[in-house]
Amino acid sequence: MENQTGQRTVRAPRGNQLHCKGWAQEAAMRMLLNNLDPEVAEDPDHLIVYGGIGKAARDWRSFDQLIASLKELDNDETLLVQSGKPVGLFRTHEAAPRVLIANSNLVPSWATWNHFYELEDKGLMMYGQMTAGSWIYIGAQGILQGTYLSFVEAGKKAFGTPDLTGRFIVTGGMGGMSGAQPLAGKMANAVILVVEVDRSRIERKMKEGYCDVLVESLDEALKLVEKFTTKGEPASIGLVGNCADVLPALVEKGVIPDFVTDQTSAHDPLNGYVPNGLTLAEANELRVTDPKTYEKRSIEAMGIHVQAMLDLQAAGAETFDYGNNIRAYAKQAGVSNAFDIPGFVPAYIRPLFCEGKGPFRWAALSGNPQDIYKLDRLAKEMFPEDEGLVNWITMAQKLVKWQGLPARICWLGYGDRDRFALRANEMVANGELEAPIVFGRDHLDCGSVASPNRETEGMKDGSDAVADWPILNALINTAGGASWVSVHHGGGVGMGYSVHAGQVLVADGSQLAKERIKRVLLSDPGMGIVRHVDAGYDRAMDVANEKGVHIPLKKG
Ligand code: NAD
Repeated sequence: MENQTGQRTVRAPRGNQLHCKGWAQEAAMRMLLNNLDPEVAEDPDHLIVYGGIGKAARDWRSFDQLIASLKELDNDETLLVQSGKPVGLFRTHEAAPRVLIANSNLVPSWATWNHFYELEDKGLMMYGQMTAGSWIYIGAQGILQGTYLSFVEAGKKAFGTPDLTGRFIVTGGMGGMSGAQPLAGKMANAVILVVEVDRSRIERKMKEGYCDVLVESLDEALKLVEKFTTKGEPASIGLVGNCADVLPALVEKGVIPDFVTDQTSAHDPLNGYVPNGLTLAEANELRVTDPKTYEKRSIEAMGIHVQAMLDLQAAGAETFDYGNNIRAYAKQAGVSNAFDIPGFVPAYIRPLFCEGKGPFRWAALSGNPQDIYKLDRLAKEMFPEDEGLVNWITMAQKLVKWQGLPARICWLGYGDRDRFALRANEMVANGELEAPIVFGRDHLDCGSVASPNRETEGMKDGSDAVADWPILNALINTAGGASWVSVHHGGGVGMGYSVHAGQVLVADGSQLAKERIKRVLLSDPGMGIVRHVDAGYDRAMDVANEKGVHIPLKKG
């Protein structure tokens, strides 16, 4: 279908009719289409899903061939995808994955943005981010619960309470994932000010119900902050501006927020971060006419931005890096102590990783929200003791609007993901759910990523950069028979900084799905336990002992 600009618009089919030869292929096709649904993707015309230039397919020709290949794929075959292009199809066996994906992987000494862009220009590569190229992005909700958890944990650390009533958060970015911040801040009862350089991004988030109000000036924003914090009323405010201007202005005015972070697309100084001192239109032009100058200005602006974050930290704000690698670029710009700002994983999230917890999610291939509501009820029934989870589902039902196929993010841990998916599989089998359910997760999970400036920052044994773990994760999930498995490089933090793996599993009600779930939804979060036990975390060791995770050689 073509839209008004002559570009194609795509959307996943709904319902329980197959267009492929099996549900795993059908699910891969629907989730690829769903990633590019205009309700879901940031720039679907260019196949961009989120996170700067994170794409679902290399180009439209590859996209067409992917769809055609998925339609012809037999139930004992496996399709190979190399950086968003289908490159081969082999006979494997019924319990094997239907699709194997490798995106943006470069040999370490060549793993730079410059080399990547050379290859991209020649049509040889695409940037897969994390869930963009592995077809399990579910819109801003995918990061909403994690962002909410981070704010709540930051509250506990700084003020001894998860309730941020009357507290003020400042952050940057209102794009694909960063757009979860205004709603997550509000869910934690805070007043959150999000600085975003692109007005249309704020407008989009307002339409989606993620942001309350748009303002054009810092003074106007601060008046609203004052009003809402005084009343103790949660609110989200989008300020059109550049972080490299606005944060130093806060320092100058002596306005010290309670929390400071940032989620602009700083992982990519050319196609993500926008330098200050230029209008957005001027920046877009400079990016094309003089990319080298653009990149230089971008890195300089990140230096200014992070220096202001450090100043606010020194003045008492609880300040953390939010997984976009801005500290590394600020360091390049001469801010030698950029890493005095802690990353959010070591600061708040690692204890959850030690329990095999992470951003697990599911989507209803029927397109029927009732299927998700039934699973919401199931989650509340199965995990009533998990107060955070029960509250999360109640809040999400009230506040999260569907984007594309109805879906739910839900941080479940080892031993719970498989139990939950098995029950869902039964509900598909007995017709309680209208169509199969897709279970997947972010690559930002407990045992699936090596990213020394983010998920594996400051590991207890210094193993931050060891990338054997995500590779083992992909291998064990392939051996166990996930429906599709992916290995990517550069997601979240950019080229040269991360290696990570994803898996997706389809519960179609069959006996084979049951067996796959029993294997993969234990091995996958189990990798988180194993990885953290190996690094010497006591909590992971306790969980391994409690839950019987077999670890041949324990440290100590
Ligand atoms: P995006 O490209 O969709 O959105 C980023 C937004 O930042 C854009 O709207 C852009 O206009 C804005 N921006 C860029 N430079 C700016 C500046 N100087 N001042 C103000 N606004 C500016 O990307 P996204 O999907 O929202 O991801 C954002 C970043 O967060 C990426 O680096 C991504 O890798 C990272 N990320 C972190 C996590 C996590 O869990 N911590 C998860 C996903 C993504």
